[in-house]
Amino acid sequence: MQRYDYAIIGGGIVGLSVAWALLERQPRARVAVLEKEDDWCRHQTGRNSGVIHSGIYYKSGSLKAKLCREGNRRLLEFCDTHGIHYEVCGKVIVATTKPELPLLEMLYARGVENGLPVRKLTVSEVKELEPHVSCLAGLHVPSTGIVNYAGICRKLVELIAARGGDLQLNTRVQAFHQNGTAGILETSSGAFAAGWIISCAGLQSDRVARLTGAKPEARIVPFRGEYYEVKPERRGLVRNLIYPVPDPEFPFLGVHFTRMIDGSVHAGPNAVLSLKREGYHRTSFNLRDFIDTVTYAGFWRMAAKHTKSGLDEMHRSFSKKAFTRSLQKLIPEIREDDLVPATAGVRAQALLPDGGLVDDFLLVRSDRALHICNAPSPAATASLEIGRMIAEEVPAI
Ligand SMILES: Cc1cc2nc3c(=O)[nH]c(=O)nc-3n(C[C@H](O)[C@H](O)[C@H](O)COP(=O)(O)OP(=O)(O)OC[C@H]3O[C@@H](n4cnc5c(N)ncnc54)[C@H](O)[C@@H]3O)c2cc1C
Repeated sequence: MQRYDYAIIGGGIVGLSVAWALLERQPRARVAVLEKEDDWCRHQTGRNSGVIHSGIYYKSGSLKAKLCREGNRRLLEFCDTHGIHYEVCGKVIVATTKPELPLLEMLYARGVENGLPVRKLTVSEVKELEPHVSCLAGLHVPSTGIVNYAGICRKLVELIAARGGDLQLNTRVQAFHQNGTAGILETSSGAFAAGWIISCAGLQSDRVARLTGAKPEARIVPFRGEYYEVKPERRGLVRNLIYPVPDPEFPFLGVHFTRMIDGSVHAGPNAVLSLKREGYHRTSFNLRDFIDTVTYAGFWRMAAKHTKSGLDEMHRSFSKKAFTRSLQKLIPEIREDDLVPATAGVRAQALLPDGGLVDDFLLVRSDRALHICNAPSPAATASLEIGRMIAEEVPAI
């Protein structure tokens, strides 16, 4: 059996960043990354909006606020060092109704508190940046950017391999037991012994944490985010990134327009309950995932609190007309036939037993193991900083 100092479960951007940060800090450490799929970043990381967030949305003092702002800077540095294409194109957030105006003010105050160079925009200033937007007022956040996170992961894989890290695909962690000072991970490709285990298992993070001896209070509830792509001949409606004012009750940002780094323009994502954790279609269903959700008291408490918005999201998922209507609040000229369905992603959102959505990144510690149990957006932006934080926290070999 191979013995490692650190075994990382999950080959998304967070797991790969942790592995790289450990090897940077301790070049002699024996590090393994165990990933169940046949390629890297098959789930959240490979299916996101590709935005390098600024950190404007997050409560001052939270891990999200701190790691996102620093992560944004580190990510750009990483891209510069390794020749990865990105753009710091900035974004606008716009209020389209009167009740949204005080929320926009609050967002501005939060941006300032978080040390961001955010600027208030009048309607004509918004139109200078995004001529097709209709709104009452806006904010400009210049430090937001775009990148392809799968490209960053490919570079991380290369760097980890160059430093002697062991990268194992098709390796699903299925069971765990302790043997003296080593934890033994039983996987679909044999057993691995490790002094420390760090789980970064995204949509399976609560299950993997329980499997390896932790008792996370929260459970993952999967929210699918569906996108449409704007037809190439209508891409001119969007210059960069156009966001609505988010509902402060939710950790999701509301459907928006994103110019991707490949030049395409995506609209979305919505946030609809998924009946399969790693299911990317409306019809995706997994009995275990479904039972886990509907037998969880926290789910029913959340559903009771947010019945109307939950039903609206479901309607928007099934009705392209309703989806288009949401987008028309931002750009009235967009039409249903400008949009073609694009691939979806599923967010791993941790939910507490009282029905509260876990707002911040969540780390759970158990004996010689560390579990990242809530790493939704902006964890891709923050990934290099999450990696650094964990590499500093686990004891050196
Ligand atoms: C629709 C959508 C849009 C988003 N947009 C943005 C954005 O624009 N900007 C941003 O910063 N963030 C965004 N995010 C969030 C971001 O993508 C995630 O926060 C980030 O990718 C999380 O990375 P991860 O490595 O934790 O999870 P993942 O990428 O999901 O990786 C977890 C890995 O663990 C593996 N795994 C699970 N169980 C096991 C097991 N038992 N054994 C071995 N391997 C296992 C999985 O196969 C998977 O590869 C978005 C997310 C979604 C879904």
